[in-house]
Amino acid sequence: MKAVIPGNIPQAAAELLKKEGFKLSIITEDESDREDFFNNIEDADAVISLINQKFNPYVIEKMKKCKIIANYGVGFNNIDVQYAKEKGIIVTNTPDVLTDSTADLTLALVLGCARKITEAEAFVREGKFLGWRPQLFLGTELKNKIFGVIGAGRIGSAAAIRAYSFGMKIIYYSKKENKLLKKVAKAKKVSLNSLLEKADFISLHVPLTSETYHLLNKEKLSLIKPAGVLINTARGEIVDEQELIELLKKKKISAAGFDVFENEPNLNPDLFKLDNVLLLPHIGSATIEARTNMALLAARNVAAVLKGKKPLTPV
Ligand code: NAP
Repeated sequence: MKAVIPGNIPQAAAELLKKEGFKLSIITEDESDREDFFNNIEDADAVISLINQKFNPYVIEKMKKCKIIANYGVGFNNIDVQYAKEKGIIVTNTPDVLTDSTADLTLALVLGCARKITEAEAFVREGKFLGWRPQLFLGTELKNKIFGVIGAGRIGSAAAIRAYSFGMKIIYYSKKENKLLKKVAKAKKVSLNSLLEKADFISLHVPLTSETYHLLNKEKLSLIKPAGVLINTARGEIVDEQELIELLKKKKISAAGFDVFENEPNLNPDLFKLDNVLLLPHIGSATIEARTNMALLAARNVAAVLKGKKPLTPV
């Protein structure tokens, strides 16, 4: 049986699938060669997909033999899961293995915004550092500040626990009560409006769904206090980015840390003109540990399904 896998994920996936006796078709570039991609998926029994590859009905229709799309990522908004299900295709993702890496990056953005790390670093590189100054790059402490988590699932909880260890107070808005977060970080569940009004740092961790698209629209963004900082390591489309930019321009929101963007990789040019943003190229799970384990988990899902077993992590 044939599995199509991207060539730019850790070798561990290919090694595992080869050992299991599957024929592999390795796509070398994720987006550059669409023809190669389509030719390969047509007769594939399994595909390991990347989060920037759209599996819409048009693409899924071409997959005549496919039994599983194993997404290399925990977010699966790139796949029409309902349509895949109708076609008898199982969709899996890679939860847990990237939680710590993404939570670490969330705190990197929190600290980066709180302490103006990008601006300060650029200042040194530009040769402007002429010695210690009492007012140079005054930031804000995290201790006693309120960290508001929107979507207290795996990554949201891991980020909150990290923030709590910095002395921050934790509040969250989520579908369900999170007992672990209450026990470990004395976290309080609040309404979305209350979180936006109270939190000093707001961190997004909901998945992108039809319900969460523009969850932070103009009206919700306007509730954030002027000293508030918004961190997005979830998905760009959860925030109305143009509205956020307008508020950042007017300093109605203090700063924002972006790992994801509404139209990535085509960034809104206005973002580059702002000095109160920290911009990262979607690297939440980009650690050797997380990426290796994501590759292994995706490959294990493929192997299980092609052998007629249950997938390990179905969505
Ligand atoms: P998760 O464990 O499923 O957490 C998501 C949480 O959001 C769950 O508690 C969920 O509640 C809640 N939620 C869903 N819809 C909601 C809504 N409409 N209102 C309020 N709460 C809602 O997922 P995760 O593993 O933490 O990952 C979260 C997201 O992070 C992913 O979907 C992905 O898009 C993003 N991500 C980004 C990167 C990166 O590179 N930047 C890396 C990894 C993940 P229920 O469980 O009750 O549905």
